[in-house]
Amino acid sequence: MKKRFLIAGNWKMNKTVAETRAFFKTLQPLLTPTVRSELLICPSLVSLAAAFEANASVGISLGAQNVYPKDSGAFTGEVSPLMLKEFVSYVLVGHSERRTLLHESDAFINEKLHALLATGLKPVLCVGETLAERKEGRVFDVIACELEAGLKGVTNEQLSQVTIAYEPIWAIGTGETATPETAEEMHAFMHDWLTKRFEISSVSKVRLLYGGSLKVDNAKQLLSQPHIDGGLIGGASLKADSFVEIARIADGIEKDI
Ligand code: PEP
Repeated sequence: MKKRFLIAGNWKMNKTVAETRAFFKTLQPLLTPTVRSELLICPSLVSLAAAFEANASVGISLGAQNVYPKDSGAFTGEVSPLMLKEFVSYVLVGHSERRTLLHESDAFINEKLHALLATGLKPVLCVGETLAERKEGRVFDVIACELEAGLKGVTNEQLSQVTIAYEPIWAIGTGETATPETAEEMHAFMHDWLTKRFEISSVSKVRLLYGGSLKVDNAKQLLSQPHIDGGLIGGASLKADSFVEIARIADGIEKDI
């Protein structure tokens, strides 16, 4: 089966419930004619129910930005995969902001990934290097380590439910974007890494997203690269028109993914 581009919006800590409803209202007419790429929005946890209701007449995919890897219990302030499953099909894990600001370890990220898979949710595993790691020539080691740890214990069957986002930390929210050549080099590396550990039939179902200041102006060049199957988009996903425009650019790209 051929993959579709996945154009995913990570809203981070943005948009109130009212703003979330307004976004979906603006989005709906922009989706005629139909967009072929899969659209995914990950709102904040408090806006998930509103997004779910507003999306009933729109029909894009919804995701969460975080999860706690237990079904229920004494975990104040946390939200379980089971709770999320009522609203979403995807959940981000390992975003660099959570790795850095919330000190999430590779082991904890792997625990979350397994909890999501066990509940039938699709993890979007984010990996990426800092500028210092890139300058020190450690970029391939860093990405390999994050993949190894994040995907520890994942079976071939489970892998086909996983999406991987390469997000160089120096490009997130900075306006700096990886060049298409750099992004492609990393995506090809991740693809090769996966093929060494998993069956090709499973690897071929995994979408590899690029994230880091992806916007209307650079979408065509980035998404045209052979191993890039979509984008994880922060800033440019907050406005329905730029979000949909990026999906339409993806739709116009002639390549087998
Ligand atoms: C992100 O939030 O994962 C991201 C890539 O943000 P931005 O597009 O704003 O760089």
